[in-house]
Amino acid sequence: MTTGQQRVRVAVVTGAARGIGAGVARRLAADGMAVAVIDLDESACAPVAEEITAAGGRALAVGADVSDPEQVEAAVQRVAGELGAPTVVVNNAGIIRDNLIFKMSVEDWDTVMAVHLRGAFLVAKACQSYMTREGFGRIVNLSSTSALGNRGQTNYSAAKAGVQGFTKTLAIELGKFGVTVNAIAPGFIETEMTAATAARTGISFDELKSAASAQAAVARTGRPEDIAHAVSFFVSEGAGFTTGQVLYVAGGPCD
Ligand code: NAP
Repeated sequence: MTTGQQRVRVAVVTGAARGIGAGVARRLAADGMAVAVIDLDESACAPVAEEITAAGGRALAVGADVSDPEQVEAAVQRVAGELGAPTVVVNNAGIIRDNLIFKMSVEDWDTVMAVHLRGAFLVAKACQSYMTREGFGRIVNLSSTSALGNRGQTNYSAAKAGVQGFTKTLAIELGKFGVTVNAIAPGFIETEMTAATAARTGISFDELKSAASAQAAVARTGRPEDIAHAVSFFVSEGAGFTTGQVLYVAGGPCD
């Protein structure tokens, strides 16, 4: 389907019922894409999809656990059938199960790996054939500044560092088919994930935000729109020579 000369792309955004994923879904719809809003619970996705539709866009709410191969396959087939070939993927679904290693359960290690790493792998794998067939694709994987190390997050930081390796390797494999693969590594973004961190560590969200702002060069915390803006660039038609990159969107330099 096209609008004028411009082809309407179909984007899959995981973990899009709230937080960064919802911000990305809204932004890609505003950019003119049809958007599949995927999250664990379809009814939780509906408000985001309805908001996009009410604003004149096209969206589909889909319930799927990204760590389950059959659910991912079924979700992607549904998106292809109802919206069209998914050639833009944003692997955003995520969870945290923080603990120091001596208290971290094997289950909390495995669950974090399953959602971030296995999930990104499964969704990219299910969508890549649509991209290679079209000779166009854009994959953006959500990493984190925690990939550089963060106390209490051995599982999460390992998964987010793994996402970076996955990104670079997939970029090498898919580049010749017109598919780019990049990662965004956010710093502190105001979402339920960071609110939960405040609750777990026994301080108020405002205190945690103040501490994060004090450490950021731009003297503020991030918002989902900050990440959505970076995603919008990576998935744009003109970004075809930008691949295998990790962009830290953290309000300051990171190494
Ligand atoms: P969030 O508010 O907790 O939202 C994450 C969403 O992912 C939730 O709607 C959650 O659904 C969904 N989800 C969890 N497991 C899933 C699964 N197996 N299948 C499908 N959906 C699943 O988190 P966020 O802050 O927006 O974070 C989004 C991404 O950015 C994550 O990958 C996170 O690691 C990354 N990130 C966030 C920050 C930050 O400061 N917020 C910083 C760096 C990186 P439920 O509500 O049903 O669990």
